[in-house]
Amino acid sequence: MAGTEGNGAPRTFGTSVACMDGRIQEPLRAWMAERFGLTYVDVVTQPGMDGVLAGSTSLGDAELARKMAGISIRAHGSKTVVVSGHHDCAGNPVSRERHVEDIKKAVDAAKSWDGMDGVRVMGVWVNGDWQVEQVT
Ligand SMILES: [Zn+2]
Repeated sequence: MAGTEGNGAPRTFGTSVACMDGRIQEPLRAWMAERFGLTYVDVVTQPGMDGVLAGSTSLGDAELARKMAGISIRAHGSKTVVVSGHHDCAGNPVSRERHVEDIKKAVDAAKSWDGMDGVRVMGVWVNGDWQVEQVT
């Protein structure tokens, strides 16, 4: 559901499903805006989000994350969900290799949510230089 601003330009939403870490929010927003041509990026956060959705940490609330993403998808018409894990994560303090496994599981979990028809789900890793690398 792409709406328009007063000048008629399309505006589109995406959804970042990410850790709460402040270091990754702007890199993710900028990467998603550029990659998918998005105007706005809604942000759904839990500590160690990749581990939360993968079921490997109980610090966060996977059900709440699902509900929050659902609002972005239904109310804002987001068709793009990016699930991420990142370097030096306090919420999911595991190796990069383990993060990549968790990100893949988290993407599968997000794809299984209700109402995801027509919504693309991508997994990414935010590295130690705070750059975004595509995982799935
Ligand atoms: Zn983190």
